[in-house]
This record gives sequence, structure tokens and C-alpha cells, in this order.
Amino acid sequence: MVEKIYVTYNEVHKLCQEAAPQILANFKPQLMIAIGGGGYVPARILRSFLKQPGSPNIPIQAIGLSLYEQLADSTDNDIEAAGTRVTRTQWLDLTALGEMANLVGKRVLIVDEVDDTRTTLEYAVKELQKDVEEARAKIGSDLKTEFAIFVLHNKDKKKKGILPDDITNGRYLAARTVGDEWICYPWEAMDIDEHDALNAAAKSN
Ligand code: 5GP
Repeated sequence: MVEKIYVTYNEVHKLCQEAAPQILANFKPQLMIAIGGGGYVPARILRSFLKQPGSPNIPIQAIGLSLYEQLADSTDNDIEAAGTRVTRTQWLDLTALGEMANLVGKRVLIVDEVDDTRTTLEYAVKELQKDVEEARAKIGSDLKTEFAIFVLHNKDKKKKGILPDDITNGRYLAARTVGDEWICYPWEAMDIDEHDALNAAAKSN
């Protein structure tokens, strides 16, 4: 049995709060790209803590990537089996961004809830870089787009996905590093009271 860790909304909130000063000190994002569905809630919470007095809120764009598909014959409905490929279910809203050109020259923070095999993050970075390069060529700009990553949890395991060195060297932040366990996030809970009770029970052990 894979061990499960139950994380509460309160804990997620505090992980984002704790990470925000480091993100502001090291990167100062101008745009966040939340990988859905797990990146949505952390990105929204983070936005409150990244807000600077006198400056507007940092815009959040959403992309939907899916790697894990539930096994029909799985005996444990909460744990999903690893897929082998990433499926794009949603991409950037080009009209809202004023075409992709608006990514050119920006500091962009990619937000997800968990870095497991790293396949999803590798795919997201590669595809976004490709789009930026295309836009840069189109408008003839020399400006560089910088990407950084924030995740709530990074699983300490051998990764399948590879990230560019400039991200891993200082532009990658995981609020917590954990073992290869299954993390149950509150937004997935069918019974949030039971979820919180399981979190409390684990703490009292
Ligand atoms: P990766 O591409 O890094 O293997 O996996 C990323 C995605 O797999 C996450 O965004 C998440 O949807 C799912 N995933 C991987 N590990 C966990 C986990 O421990 N708990 C939950 N809830 N989802 C996970």
C-alpha cells in the first residue's frame, strides 16, 4: 500500500504564504501560468501573497495538462496510475494575452501542485518555450522570457522529465520535498471533514 498524506486547505495556504517572499526576492513574476487542475488553487492563493502595494495583481493564465488517468479496475479509487503521455486539455488564451507576443520578455511563474515524475513540467516548459520562440521570431524581438516553477510538493525520486538548467539552478521552488507517497489534496476530497480528520489523525500519531 502506498502511504497517503492528507493536506488541508489551511496547510496549502500556509505553504503558499511561506514561499511568496522567496519568489518575490528571487524572481518577481509578471505572469503566472497555472497547470490545471492542481495548480489553480495554489496559484490563486499565491497571487494574494505576491501582490505589491500600488501594483496590480499578477495575471493568472491556465493550461490543462493531463498525464494520469484513473484505472478502471483500480482497487483504490483515490490513487491514479501513471500515464505515459501528456494530453493538452487547455492552452493559453491568446486573445487575453494580446497574442503570444505578450509572453515575450516576461518573467513567467509556472505553478503546479506536485512534481512527481516531472513529465508534466518538462512538457509545459518545452511547449511554452516553443510558443515564446515563435512569437519572438514573429515580432523580431531580442527580449528573453524567463520561466520559473513553483510546486507545493516535490517527490524526492528519480525523475523522468528534465528541466532546463536555468530553472533547476535557482528558479525552481518546492514548498516541501516529500518521499514517494500519494498526496491527497483537499480540492479532490469528496468528504472534506473526513479528509481533515485523516490529516489530524496522522498528526496525532
Ligand atoms: P508528473 O508529470 O510530475 O509525474 O505528475 C504531475 C501530475 O500527476 C500532477 O499534476 C498530479 O495531477 C498528478 N500526481 C502525481 N503525484 C500525485 C500525488 O501524489 N497526488 C495527487 N493528488 N496527484 C498526483
